[in-house]
Amino acid sequence: MARDIGAACRRCRRENLKLYLKGDRCYSDKCSFERRAFGPGQHGQARFKKVSDYALQLREKQKVKNMYGVLESQFRICFHKADQQKGVTGENLLVNLERRLDNTIFRIGLASSRNQARQFVLHSHILVNGKKVNIPSFLVGAGDEITVKEKSRKNSFIMENLEAVARRGVPSWLELDKDNFKATVKTLPQREELTMPIQEHLIVELYSK
Ligand code: SF4
Repeated sequence: MARDIGAACRRCRRENLKLYLKGDRCYSDKCSFERRAFGPGQHGQARFKKVSDYALQLREKQKVKNMYGVLESQFRICFHKADQQKGVTGENLLVNLERRLDNTIFRIGLASSRNQARQFVLHSHILVNGKKVNIPSFLVGAGDEITVKEKSRKNSFIMENLEAVARRGVPSWLELDKDNFKATVKTLPQREELTMPIQEHLIVELYSK
């Protein structure tokens, strides 16, 4: 399975935003973005230069793609699906990305990063409505019940992550039952609940060219 293995912290510095790609390290003072809050590379500290509309649109797309850990081809498919749905395309896109099973596992707090969440899903630690689902791009729906497989409940990473849930918090569209390793999707996420600074209209403009 194809995956992007580029340096994670470099991506945060490139987007000038913490994307939380490295689990606990992102919440510690070891975070590269906290220590070097300027772009990567030789010209990372260069003064302001004029940026074209296209560059702005491209950066916004890259930011969201990196944030959710999705490859270009998957992102494009996601965009086309969002475009065919009723409503505002940009909002549909973000809501669909948020509904991905790997993202949901991360949001619940079972995983410390989306990468780790993807591993848990691929290694079949996760059940949705009692059935094994090992597809990270699976979209959860309202009322779905997500549980950790009985045999995987002693996984030290999952146990450690659950201990840290209070610190990170769980979004209002999800409900976590920590003791039973279970979470419920109360409703579909709403655009207003996604607090990361994203201008989705720029992505729509980019793909509409
Ligand atoms: Fe980004 Fe996390 Fe690296 Fe900080 S530690 S720069 S938030 S990936």
